Amino acid sequence: MIKCENLEKTYPLRKGQGFQALKGIQLNIGRGEFAAVTGPSGCGKSTLLNILGLLDNPGGGRYYFEGRDVSSFGDPERSRLRLEAVGFVFQSFNLLPRFSSLENVCLPMLYLGVEKEEAAARALALLEKVGLRGKQDNTPLELSGGERQRVGIARALANDPRLLLADEPTGNLDSRTGMEVMDLLRSLNAGGLTIIMVTHDQALARAASRTIRVRDGRIEE
Ligand code: ADP
Repeated sequence: MIKCENLEKTYPLRKGQGFQALKGIQLNIGRGEFAAVTGPSGCGKSTLLNILGLLDNPGGGRYYFEGRDVSSFGDPERSRLRLEAVGFVFQSFNLLPRFSSLENVCLPMLYLGVEKEEAAARALALLEKVGLRGKQDNTPLELSGGERQRVGIARALANDPRLLLADEPTGNLDSRTGMEVMDLLRSLNAGGLTIIMVTHDQALARAASRTIRVRDGRIEE
């Protein structure tokens, strides 16, 4: 599903200098895996996730997504593939506060040109799938933290992605609610969805099928 060959990423700093955040990442992730990415703060996890999720291009090396060399893609081509193939779940949920659960889940579909009625019907089904039947009209403020993250997961599933990326998805939740969200991710993975999750929580990492340890821009799996 994913293959990284010697991925590098350098952030430009002042005076023509740069900071090398990724120093030659080699990584293969197969379809249907549930991989946890761990490592100390600043080791490059988010930088790696941004590249894997087609938000950013690597500075060097090759990134193959489903066999296609996406490191050579331009921004529009990469964004298009991201919208249809990748779903994102965030630590801070990133829901639009004035929009209902249903509208939040509809948005990625509307970006892809899905008709409003069709998007609403699918969003309703997704909210039901993540255990939020009856909460479609609530705005994020009218939901608990765990429920907000379920909306976030339903939104990530909106365009039926082949890859789900989650960056500390339980970081803002208490441990019991966090485990419930983790159970939901596991059931999605059991249904065949490939998941890559950044976490610093060893218990969560153990619940994944594989742990990828990053240290100082390199993988020490
Ligand atoms: P992690 O997610 O593991 O905490 P990041 O991928 O966010 O780490 O960052 C890796 C390193 O790259 C850190 O040392 C960070 O300071 C640096 N970095 C991240 N983003 C930028 C940026 N836009 N400009 C310069 N340095 C950055």
